[in-house]
Amino acid sequence: MRIFSALLAAVSLVVAAPPPPAALPTSVATSEVIVDVAVVGAGASGGYAAIRLKEDLGKTIAVIEKGAKLGGHVSTYDDPVAGRGFDFGVQTFNDYGPAAAFFDRLGIPYSENPRAGLTDRYVDFNTGSNVSFVPAAFSPNTLGALETFLQVVEPWEELLLPGYWDFPSPENIPEDLLLPFGEFVVKHGIQDCVNLVFRVTGMGTGDMKNRLTMYVLSAFGPPMIRAFLGIDSIFTPNSRRNIEVYEKIQARLASDLLLDSTVVQTTRNTTGHILWVKNQSTGTYTLVRAAKLLIAIEPTPENMAPFSLDAEEEAVFSKLEHQRVHAGIVTHPQLPIGISLVNTPSSAAPSNFLELPKPNFNARFDHMGAGSNNWRVLMVGDDNFDTCKAQALVKKNFRDMRAQGTLPAGGPVDLEIKAWADHGAMHMHFGAEEVREGFIQRLYALQGRTQTWWTGGAFSHQFQTVLWAFDDVLLGRMLGV
Ligand SMILES: Cc1cc2nc3c(=O)[nH]c(=O)nc-3n(C[C@H](O)[C@H](O)[C@H](O)COP(=O)(O)OP(=O)(O)OC[C@H]3O[C@@H](n4cnc5c(N)ncnc54)[C@H](O)[C@@H]3O)c2cc1C
Repeated sequence: MRIFSALLAAVSLVVAAPPPPAALPTSVATSEVIVDVAVVGAGASGGYAAIRLKEDLGKTIAVIEKGAKLGGHVSTYDDPVAGRGFDFGVQTFNDYGPAAAFFDRLGIPYSENPRAGLTDRYVDFNTGSNVSFVPAAFSPNTLGALETFLQVVEPWEELLLPGYWDFPSPENIPEDLLLPFGEFVVKHGIQDCVNLVFRVTGMGTGDMKNRLTMYVLSAFGPPMIRAFLGIDSIFTPNSRRNIEVYEKIQARLASDLLLDSTVVQTTRNTTGHILWVKNQSTGTYTLVRAAKLLIAIEPTPENMAPFSLDAEEEAVFSKLEHQRVHAGIVTHPQLPIGISLVNTPSSAAPSNFLELPKPNFNARFDHMGAGSNNWRVLMVGDDNFDTCKAQALVKKNFRDMRAQGTLPAGGPVDLEIKAWADHGAMHMHFGAEEVREGFIQRLYALQGRTQTWWTGGAFSHQFQTVLWAFDDVLLGRMLGV
């Protein structure tokens, strides 16, 4: 990344771009960067793409990340008391596509990390009362249902993974993919795996029973099914600190990073882009001039406001809906050691597997083991489900369980929140009507328009390593290699 100090008026432009239509002049910037590719967002998709662009494809890059460090949904809490890290965001990496090779390349030893052997207790978090639920999770019935699930969906894998490049035209979409997942489950008789699918990652889709099957597959698809059937592996760094992956990426990108920074204004042009990047800590501006733009953040209206979207981009993104996800570590002397308190509607008793919590909800309190006093919570809601509301709900869940005698009295009234991450918009999806009207194809037709390229969950799937594989395809198309 080449940085030139101030006096931008005197700097000749690499790319002739029209004057910015918005408020900020180029002279507001105190430094300037001229690169081949500007990458916005450095989580799973942006961080991986940046390494490949720089190290494999020989491109100059500028990576604009709003956080103080890289990693996006990876949240590692380094517990000073336990003297070790606890991951309360991303838990594991599927051995999919380039995953193992990328760990090797970063010099990160890895191995399978067996899930903590927790005992489940089922509680209706709406009331705080125990539920007599006979689960199928991890039973032989579950495995049988997962095998059936895999047999049904594997033939469509190439239409869906690692992205929707070859998604069929509306008249050729397999009808099952557009069924609400609850109907798909009943059609194929796979009720016995619903509890597992929801608890592992499906919950992120929110109202999973009514979400289109194709989008449940983006949260729990063939790679995850194969992992639970023991066909594929899932692993973590041996340090058991998932953030190690992004610490290593950050070290390799060092001088290419603009941290604590967001794009506040843009002019995009087929011959090049100008980004006004504001450092949120110092208030200073850097002008990034880039031949290509790779946007690796969710295309919500708030995120897209500085990018001067054209009419087609606006039209396509306006149809996307999403969930808002939070994860945290909480503690209280009366939370049970070695137990997972699983949010289960009372209507699910004794074994109605399709009776699932509806947003906004906390999915569970999971003891994090290793002799700790840490419990992980996972919350899913609508766009208005901010940190304040999510933390109020988790505290209410706890108080209700105590009021019902589900948890013992004693100790402080409220939970202590030790760590928290608002993961923001996730699981972006269209409705069935939009998919039938060709919105997947319209979404993908945005790739490369105005030399702007798109990666991240909205374009692929909600898995770290699937996104890395998606990036490999995307970068090939972007650079014609
Ligand atoms: C609680 C939780 C658990 C998960 N567990 C797993 C798991 O075990 N295994 C797995 O494979 N996947 C897991 N996932 C999903 C996976 O992490 C996501 O699918 C993946 O991170 C999405 O990658 P992304 O690049 O789209 O977004 P992110 O990884 O979120 O990266 C986006 C980046 O952009 C930055 N950013 C956002 N807005 C701006 C802006 N305006 N300007 C500049 N920068 C911006 C963010 O700070 C972030 O660093 C989990 C997700 C969550 C929330």
